[in-house]
Amino acid sequence: MNGVIPCLLFLFFVSFFQEDYKEKREGMVKLQIEKRGVKDAAVLNAMRQVKRHLFVPSSSIPDAYNDGPLPIGYGQTISQPYIVAYMTEAIKPKPEYKVLEIGTGSGYQAAVLSPIVKEVYTIEIVPQLGTAAANRLKKLGYKNVQAKIGDGYYGWKEHGPYDAIVVTAATEYVPPPLLEQLKDGGRMIIPIGSPFMTQTLMLVEKKGKKATTKSLLPVMFVPFTREKK
Ligand code: SAH
Repeated sequence: MNGVIPCLLFLFFVSFFQEDYKEKREGMVKLQIEKRGVKDAAVLNAMRQVKRHLFVPSSSIPDAYNDGPLPIGYGQTISQPYIVAYMTEAIKPKPEYKVLEIGTGSGYQAAVLSPIVKEVYTIEIVPQLGTAAANRLKKLGYKNVQAKIGDGYYGWKEHGPYDAIVVTAATEYVPPPLLEQLKDGGRMIIPIGSPFMTQTLMLVEKKGKKATTKSLLPVMFVPFTREKK
């Protein structure tokens, strides 16, 4: 009997500190994502699985499942959950896919892609963010994600061509090296427009030497920056 109360207290503290916000994630998926029309089962599952609260600064943990972007330092943000789900669905991901992401940020979008596709490559231009995200993804066991620091404008040629490319920073035009590294029949989702204004999320589909584009949604992304030479 003596040991029962300390034991219960211990269990209480362990479960308290290991709060994993499962219910909040369920609510996020139901109310923010499914309700707005995202249907892909693998995408919805990934959004239920990936612990967004482990990708935000500790002061933002209580807001991790809110319906919006959050600051992650260095003037950058982790995207709104719905936009992550929407972009992931838009590339029509399949288990055999190799996907390139430009703008690792917190690593959240890469983590969402990880259980859905075969390989994920992600590039971040801010070294501190890129290093922190790479360590986080490793620690959390996202083994099929490879991250590097660099200017995503040039893509990651050694691992290409890619079935899909997800760009998570706003650019005025599609960087030609990214289109080159896309497979024939591949899809790229990319916010196009001026920085600090509403941009348009575009779906680019490569067909032979041509590419078709389709405007999908008005969005606000942080700017696509370039490495200073
Ligand atoms: N996908 C991220 C959100 C990223 S915000 C997430 O899930 O958390 C956009 C990111 O793109 C920022 O971290 C920014 O530093 C990065 N970025 C901007 N221009 C870039 C470039 N040319 N190459 C690589 N990353 C870039």
